[in-house]
Amino acid sequence: MDNLALQCQCGTVRGRAIRVYPVDGTRVVCYCRDCQAFAHALNAAERVLDAQGGTDIYQLPPARLQIHQGHDQIRCLRLSSKGLYRWYAGCCNTPIGNTLGPGVPLVGLIHSFISDPFAEQKIGPVRARVNLKGATAEIPRDSVKTAPGQVYMRKLLLRMLLWKLTGKARPNPFFMGKSPRVTPIILSPGSAVEHNGATD
Ligand SMILES: [Zn+2]
Ligand SMILES: [Zn+2]
Repeated sequence: MDNLALQCQCGTVRGRAIRVYPVDGTRVVCYCRDCQAFAHALNAAERVLDAQGGTDIYQLPPARLQIHQGHDQIRCLRLSSKGLYRWYAGCCNTPIGNTLGPGVPLVGLIHSFISDPFAEQKIGPVRARVNLKGATAEIPRDSVKTAPGQVYMRKLLLRMLLWKLTGKARPNPFFMGKSPRVTPIILSPGSAVEHNGATD
Protein backbone atom coordinates (compact mmCIF):
# COMPACT_ATOMS: atom_id res chain seq x y z
CA MET A 1 0.00 0.00 0.00
CA ASP A 2 2.91 2.39 0.40
CA ASN A 3 3.71 3.07 -3.26
CA LEU A 4 1.84 5.67 -5.24
CA ALA A 5 1.47 5.05 -8.98
CA LEU A 6 2.34 7.98 -11.20
CA GLN A 7 1.89 8.61 -14.89
CA CYS A 8 1.25 11.39 -17.36
CA GLN A 9 -2.06 11.62 -19.14
CA CYS A 10 -0.91 9.64 -22.20
CA GLY A 11 1.04 7.06 -20.18
CA THR A 12 4.48 7.72 -21.70
CA VAL A 13 6.07 8.99 -18.51
CA ARG A 14 5.59 6.62 -15.59
CA GLY A 15 6.97 6.23 -12.14
CA ARG A 16 6.06 5.93 -8.51
CA ALA A 17 6.44 7.62 -5.19
CA ILE A 18 7.59 5.27 -2.47
CA ARG A 19 6.89 5.16 1.26
CA VAL A 20 3.71 7.22 1.02
CA TYR A 21 1.67 7.24 4.21
CA PRO A 22 -1.23 9.51 5.11
CA VAL A 23 0.32 10.14 8.52
CA ASP A 24 3.17 11.93 6.75
CA GLY A 25 0.67 14.63 5.90
CA THR A 26 2.46 16.69 3.32
CA ARG A 27 -0.39 17.51 1.00
CA VAL A 28 -1.00 21.19 0.33
CA VAL A 29 -3.04 23.33 -2.01
CA CYS A 30 -1.15 26.31 -3.40
CA TYR A 31 -3.07 29.28 -4.76
CA CYS A 32 -0.11 31.32 -5.95
CA ARG A 33 -0.22 33.01 -9.33
CA ASP A 34 2.89 31.20 -10.51
CA CYS A 35 1.36 27.77 -10.05
CA GLN A 36 -1.64 29.03 -12.01
CA ALA A 37 0.60 30.46 -14.73
CA PHE A 38 2.36 27.12 -15.05
CA ALA A 39 -0.95 25.26 -15.57
CA HIS A 40 -2.09 27.87 -18.09
CA ALA A 41 1.20 27.75 -19.98
CA LEU A 42 0.65 24.03 -20.55
CA ASN A 43 -3.01 24.51 -21.43
CA ALA A 44 -3.69 22.28 -18.46
CA ALA A 45 -5.60 24.69 -16.22
CA GLU A 46 -8.83 22.75 -16.48
CA ARG A 47 -7.38 19.50 -15.26
CA VAL A 48 -4.98 21.00 -12.72
CA LEU A 49 -6.59 23.99 -10.99
CA ASP A 50 -9.51 23.75 -8.59
CA ALA A 51 -12.46 26.16 -8.50
CA GLN A 52 -10.37 28.77 -6.65
CA GLY A 53 -7.27 28.43 -8.81
CA GLY A 54 -5.51 26.09 -6.37
CA THR A 55 -3.02 23.39 -7.29
CA ASP A 56 -3.12 20.20 -5.20
CA ILE A 57 0.45 19.19 -4.37
CA TYR A 58 1.99 16.29 -2.48
CA GLN A 59 5.40 17.16 -1.07
CA LEU A 60 8.09 14.53 -0.72
CA PRO A 61 11.88 14.25 -0.71
CA PRO A 62 13.52 13.60 -4.10
CA ALA A 63 14.77 10.14 -3.11
CA ARG A 64 11.19 8.94 -2.77
CA LEU A 65 10.25 9.89 -6.32
CA GLN A 66 11.20 7.43 -9.05
CA ILE A 67 10.67 7.80 -12.78
CA HIS A 68 10.81 4.44 -14.58
CA GLN A 69 9.78 5.29 -18.09
CA GLY A 70 9.67 8.22 -20.52
CA HIS A 71 12.66 10.18 -19.20
CA ASP A 72 13.21 11.72 -22.62
CA GLN A 73 9.78 13.36 -22.44
CA ILE A 74 10.48 15.21 -19.22
CA ARG A 75 10.66 18.96 -19.73
CA CYS A 76 11.37 21.86 -17.44
CA LEU A 77 9.90 25.31 -17.44
CA ARG A 78 10.69 28.36 -15.34
CA LEU A 79 8.58 31.47 -15.15
CA SER A 80 11.71 33.58 -14.73
CA SER A 81 15.43 32.96 -14.53
CA LYS A 82 15.06 32.75 -10.74
CA GLY A 83 11.77 30.86 -10.70
CA LEU A 84 11.08 27.36 -9.46
CA TYR A 85 11.99 24.50 -11.72
CA ARG A 86 8.61 23.28 -12.93
CA TRP A 87 8.63 19.86 -14.52
CA TYR A 88 6.15 18.39 -16.96
CA ALA A 89 5.68 15.62 -19.49
CA GLY A 90 6.25 17.03 -22.98
CA CYS A 91 4.31 14.19 -24.64
CA CYS A 92 0.95 15.42 -23.35
CA ASN A 93 1.76 18.59 -21.34
CA THR A 94 0.99 16.96 -18.00
CA PRO A 95 2.40 18.91 -15.05
CA ILE A 96 4.62 16.61 -12.94
CA GLY A 97 5.98 18.69 -10.11
CA ASN A 98 7.98 21.64 -8.81
CA THR A 99 11.42 21.84 -7.30
CA LEU A 100 13.28 24.79 -5.82
CA GLY A 101 16.73 23.74 -6.92
CA PRO A 102 19.25 20.91 -6.85
CA GLY A 103 20.19 21.46 -3.21
CA VAL A 104 16.70 21.61 -1.74
CA PRO A 105 15.38 18.23 -0.64
CA LEU A 106 11.79 18.80 -1.71
CA VAL A 107 9.60 17.92 -4.68
CA GLY A 108 6.05 19.22 -4.94
CA LEU A 109 4.33 16.48 -6.87
CA ILE A 110 1.30 17.81 -8.73
CA HIS A 111 -1.89 15.73 -8.57
CA SER A 112 -2.17 15.62 -12.39
CA PHE A 113 0.76 13.19 -12.44
CA ILE A 114 -0.72 10.92 -9.76
CA SER A 115 -2.63 8.07 -11.37
CA ASP A 116 -3.08 5.83 -8.37
CA PRO A 117 -6.75 4.89 -7.84
CA PHE A 118 -6.14 4.83 -4.07
CA ALA A 119 -4.33 8.18 -3.96
CA GLU A 120 -6.85 9.78 -1.58
CA GLN A 121 -6.34 7.11 1.08
CA LYS A 122 -2.60 6.97 0.59
CA ILE A 123 -1.71 10.64 0.77
CA GLY A 124 -4.45 11.71 3.16
CA PRO A 125 -6.32 15.00 3.40
CA VAL A 126 -5.10 18.48 2.48
CA ARG A 127 -3.03 19.71 5.45
CA ALA A 128 -2.46 23.29 4.40
CA ARG A 129 -3.74 25.90 2.00
CA VAL A 130 -1.03 28.36 1.13
CA ASN A 131 -0.68 31.64 -0.77
CA LEU A 132 -4.37 32.32 -0.30
CA LYS A 133 -4.00 35.82 -1.73
CA GLY A 134 -3.60 34.37 -5.19
CA ALA A 135 -6.96 32.57 -5.11
CA THR A 136 -9.23 33.41 -8.03
CA ALA A 137 -12.43 32.94 -6.00
CA GLU A 138 -13.36 32.87 -2.33
CA ILE A 139 -12.10 29.76 -0.57
CA PRO A 140 -14.69 28.27 1.79
CA ARG A 141 -13.74 29.37 5.30
CA ASP A 142 -13.97 25.86 6.72
CA SER A 143 -11.41 24.48 4.34
CA VAL A 144 -8.96 27.21 5.33
CA LYS A 145 -9.54 26.58 9.04
CA THR A 146 -8.88 22.86 8.81
CA ALA A 147 -5.66 23.43 6.87
CA PRO A 148 -3.80 26.46 8.24
CA GLY A 149 -0.73 27.42 6.26
CA GLN A 150 1.60 28.86 8.88
CA VAL A 151 1.86 25.90 11.23
CA TYR A 152 2.38 23.69 8.26
CA MET A 153 5.23 25.76 6.86
CA ARG A 154 7.15 25.46 10.12
CA LYS A 155 6.65 21.70 10.13
CA LEU A 156 7.73 21.50 6.53
CA LEU A 157 11.00 23.28 7.21
CA LEU A 158 11.78 20.80 9.96
CA ARG A 159 10.87 17.92 7.71
CA MET A 160 13.14 19.23 4.94
CA LEU A 161 15.99 19.50 7.38
CA LEU A 162 15.38 15.92 8.45
CA TRP A 163 15.22 14.75 4.84
CA LYS A 164 18.47 16.50 4.12
CA LEU A 165 20.20 15.04 7.18
CA THR A 166 18.99 11.53 6.40
CA GLY A 167 20.19 11.68 2.80
CA LYS A 168 16.76 11.86 1.12
CA ALA A 169 17.86 14.68 -1.19
CA ARG A 170 19.41 12.14 -3.55
CA PRO A 171 18.97 10.53 -5.94
CA ASN A 172 17.00 13.30 -7.55
CA PRO A 173 15.12 12.37 -10.74
CA PHE A 174 15.34 15.93 -12.05
CA PHE A 175 18.93 16.95 -11.35
CA MET A 176 22.31 15.45 -12.13
CA GLY A 177 24.53 16.90 -9.44
CA LYS A 178 23.80 20.62 -9.61
CA SER A 179 22.47 20.65 -13.17
CA PRO A 180 18.91 20.08 -14.27
CA ARG A 181 18.68 16.97 -16.48
CA VAL A 182 17.07 19.02 -19.24
CA THR A 183 17.66 22.66 -20.08
CA PRO A 184 14.80 24.69 -18.63
CA ILE A 185 12.72 26.87 -20.91
CA ILE A 186 12.31 30.32 -19.42
CA LEU A 187 8.80 31.40 -20.16
CA SER A 188 8.03 34.99 -20.94
CA PRO A 189 4.81 36.32 -19.39
CA GLY A 190 1.66 35.44 -21.31
CA SER A 191 3.19 32.89 -23.63
CA ALA A 192 2.25 29.25 -23.79
CA VAL A 193 4.12 26.07 -24.51
CA GLU A 194 3.15 24.46 -27.80
CA HIS A 195 1.90 20.94 -27.57
CA ASN A 196 4.57 18.42 -28.42
CA GLY A 197 7.84 19.35 -29.99
CA ALA A 198 8.12 23.10 -29.54
CA THR A 199 10.36 22.57 -26.57
CA ASP A 200 13.29 20.90 -28.26
ZN1 LIG B 1 2.33 11.95 -21.71
ZN1 LIG C 1 2.22 27.94 -5.97
